[in-house]
Amino acid sequence: MISMGSERRRLSSGLGSMPNTDPGESVPAVRVCGLEYRYPDGKEALRGIDLTIQAGESVAIVGPNGAGKSTLLLHLNGLLPGKARGTIGHAHTLGGELPARGRSAQPSVWIDGLAVNQRSAAEVRRRVGLVFQDPDDQLFCNTVIEDVAFGPLNQGIRPAEARRIALECLTQVDLQAEAERLPHHLSFGERKRACLAGVLACRPSVLVLDEPSANLDPRGRRRLIALIQGLSGTKLIATHDLELVLELCPRTVLLDAGQVVADGASRAVLGDATLMDAHGLEPPLSLRYASAGTGMRRSSLDPPPA
Ligand code: ADP
Repeated sequence: MISMGSERRRLSSGLGSMPNTDPGESVPAVRVCGLEYRYPDGKEALRGIDLTIQAGESVAIVGPNGAGKSTLLLHLNGLLPGKARGTIGHAHTLGGELPARGRSAQPSVWIDGLAVNQRSAAEVRRRVGLVFQDPDDQLFCNTVIEDVAFGPLNQGIRPAEARRIALECLTQVDLQAEAERLPHHLSFGERKRACLAGVLACRPSVLVLDEPSANLDPRGRRRLIALIQGLSGTKLIATHDLELVLELCPRTVLLDAGQVVADGASRAVLGDATLMDAHGLEPPLSLRYASAGTGMRRSSLDPPPA
């Protein structure tokens, strides 16, 4: 089984040193410091995000629509929102206005200690595997196997080896029989798994998933959860599927209006009915109700009956 890369070395890029890390300290897989982002139309999407994720952690990013989850994920691999696959740009600041065109911004995101910016973009993309919410944003080749082999080929791996890796990853997501099919002839769930295979083929150290279970039927959802559960490495999952969070992520970060409003154990964050309500969410059913003998009983999270 292919697992995500586990290389953990301090990268000396000379492109911006990461704040608050002692030489003896292990380098976090993801470090975000005071990240702000404003879309070209003026919409302020991120307003000073601070986040540290250690190697091997599985962390959920939750929040209401428009909270900034997708925008944050796009920053982790240097993809400028709204640009086509492979187009790299970065426009974040440590505060104040966006920098003028051509003026360099202070880095606000580090992956394995490597500052994310235009110069590091290729290496960052190799390390951070982003699975988009909509598989059609990610699949573009004539066959499934070509799509999955695209990343390794792009990394300079020879075609025969890239194809071998692609087939291995397709087997991992149980799509080996579909290797020669047109990606757009696959079902939605199969296309999602093909995207995951394409990302795994690049052996990322950080796997980033945007709404992995959205639009999947129950069987497809369970299958994807089991797949994700079986992967080692650092995982970041933005989702509205809070039951999935409880299964996959011990830690949850709650975003609202471009800011981190809570960061802690998933059961504590998601089980806090007042906090969840204040940010347009509800505790997941499994925390509200626990099955007891013959039926369901109310948990202490619910207000007492009138
Ligand atoms: P979430 O993923 O939590 O739903 P997003 O990151 O998609 O939130 O959006 C955060 C904010 O940025 C929202 O107010 C949204 O309207 C805005 N936004 C997202 N994409 C764009 C875009 N391409 N141009 C302008 N504003 C955008």
